[in-house]
Amino acid sequence: MPERVLFTPSALELPWGQQILSRVQALDLPVEELPRDRLTGLRGEDDRETYAIAKRTLAVVVAPPSHFKLSPIPPSADWQFHLAEGCPAHCQYCYLAGSLQGPPVIRAYANLPQILENLAAYERPGQATSYEVSCYTDPLGIEHLTGSLAECIRYFGTRPDARLRWVSKFDGVNHLLDLPHNGHTRCRVSVNAAPISQRLEGGTASVAKRLQALRQLALPRSQGGGGYPIGLVIAPIMPIDDWQTHYSELFDAIESAIDFDCNLTFELISHRFTPGSKDVLLSWYPNTSLDLDESTRSVKRNKFGGTKYVYEAEMMKTLRRFFEQEIARRFPQAEVLYWT
Ligand code: SF4
Repeated sequence: MPERVLFTPSALELPWGQQILSRVQALDLPVEELPRDRLTGLRGEDDRETYAIAKRTLAVVVAPPSHFKLSPIPPSADWQFHLAEGCPAHCQYCYLAGSLQGPPVIRAYANLPQILENLAAYERPGQATSYEVSCYTDPLGIEHLTGSLAECIRYFGTRPDARLRWVSKFDGVNHLLDLPHNGHTRCRVSVNAAPISQRLEGGTASVAKRLQALRQLALPRSQGGGGYPIGLVIAPIMPIDDWQTHYSELFDAIESAIDFDCNLTFELISHRFTPGSKDVLLSWYPNTSLDLDESTRSVKRNKFGGTKYVYEAEMMKTLRRFFEQEIARRFPQAEVLYWT
């Protein structure tokens, strides 16, 4: 629950903004209307305090026009779009560090219906086009405040050629089970080995709870589930001490939660960081135990001259082999979508 909920005047003029207002009022959260369409007054004395204030603030705003020009997001999906930016959790390796500007306030978009309408222009008729909605937020983590994820799922249920993908580290899925998704939404949870999730993923649901939520989403409707295609995103994979044992235990937990046939995929993402994300993460979590030592990594450059630190080639090969073999042995029906 945020400590403050701010609305810009333009957000309050829109029906979806009003819908969010009713939800947060029903939850008895303190609501403030800003005088202008700008977020101000959210900086603390230092980066740590600014971070703490921002993470406890939900701002309901109108997504700017740049959100109507979609970007591709390989290897996860054809396109990305956003129902919000920012996330209430505190992962010390957070993917958002360095990719979002300014304090990490959670901004939920009041013009969601327009954002959804715009997606049709990117569909390839007669061929499934996929859209990822979790690049800049954890959509389930704020769903009780916005209802926006359910709205996306309903919308994609009506589009024969469009597929939605979302991923979360939260577990509140009950209200998603009965939605008319038509098999067009793949629900995924992000999981990790116990020492990583327990030490580095503050404010999230436990991995056990995430797996129970995923089970609910995948179970057939006749058994009280949602009947969704599902997926596991194992990320960020790190070769911590005794990593084979810890990741084998994670696979044991996945096997007991998903102990029935279903449409299941895996995505495997090794840990990486950039100079920019390292700086931001160290300002947010100065005492982190996260390994951000460049000297043990390989440098990967992108076509725009950006630098990324990834594990060295030999380690990458060893990790990849382990994960692919475990999945092939334990989940022969599942598809591994990518390793990166
Ligand atoms: Fe960042 Fe995702 Fe963790 Fe939220 S759940 S803090 S977006 S890594």
